[in-house]
Amino acid sequence: MAWTNATSSLAAQIESYLATIVDGHERAATAAWVRAWDTIGPDLELAVNELVLQAADGRLRRADVIRSARLQAALEQIHQTLDGLIDGTASDIIDQLADIVDHAGSLQERIIASQLPAAARQEVAAWSRTDPRQLAAIVDRTAEQITKLTYPLADEAAATMRRELVRGIAVGDNPRAVAARMVRNTEVTFNGGLHRATVIARTEMLDAHRRAAQLADDANADLLTGWTWTCALVGNVCRACLSMHGREFPLDQSGPEGHPSCRCARVAKTKSWRDLGFDIDEPDSLMPSAVDYFDGLSKTEQVDVLGQRGWTAWNEGRYPMDQWASKRTADGWRDSWVPSPAPA
Ligand SMILES: [Zn+2]
Repeated sequence: MAWTNATSSLAAQIESYLATIVDGHERAATAAWVRAWDTIGPDLELAVNELVLQAADGRLRRADVIRSARLQAALEQIHQTLDGLIDGTASDIIDQLADIVDHAGSLQERIIASQLPAAARQEVAAWSRTDPRQLAAIVDRTAEQITKLTYPLADEAAATMRRELVRGIAVGDNPRAVAARMVRNTEVTFNGGLHRATVIARTEMLDAHRRAAQLADDANADLLTGWTWTCALVGNVCRACLSMHGREFPLDQSGPEGHPSCRCARVAKTKSWRDLGFDIDEPDSLMPSAVDYFDGLSKTEQVDVLGQRGWTAWNEGRYPMDQWASKRTADGWRDSWVPSPAPA
């Protein structure tokens, strides 16, 4: 294995490509949500104001809320809008999956080549020769998963909005403030739908990228010993990802199994040059070190990563970097490495 400068730059390319897609997707989804609320928000506001001002005895009852045709219409419109937005968010990502998968595989091919002596590079299996059915399988499986996970979101959010609005409310002597609060709470639930839909689409998209990288690794199994979990060592990184950076896994292990939205990359690790039959001394690995990165941060930046309690424990030697991640097993989703709680 010889992690070269070229390997570092290719790993960085994965991370910046994923960041561009994720940020672009998030920006587009957020803009769509804001536009939608600008359209439906005023109707809800009118309906709620009307209702609250009619609550003559200072109390808004469930029955009043349920009987208000205007409010019910506004809620129905919000529900339908949310349905359309979530659908659109999912299909935006689904439309890009083929490109994402292709990017992952071709970069993995170059990553493998970057670690080999020049004479061995022609042995790397060309990603362009991958069986298209295998690529389609990754795309289809991811699309299915995104659809399945986002499908119930609009109904759930709509149910929450209705439940919160029909809760009996004391209007008191400031009905306008009460109305404003009701509208604001509904908007928060509405935006919660945006957050959940984008996290799902993003996380599944990142996993599709990793599965394609794994496919490229499998095609080169004879050249590899496994793969390395690689975290972009820039800015305010997650402590779990920092802790996982540099850990090695066998080829048949999928991953990196990061937390939702984690952008860490799978980087193939080649066999030693001698094991590959080359009688040449191998250059030293130039893989950037997570410890060096963290040590190079200012104290404030370190606290941002670890929290005050975590930083103190780390500083006292009670919370070393290899303990910053713990494996979480959840129903309905893959295992994931998440930040471990800092010791008290
Ligand atoms: Zn990560």
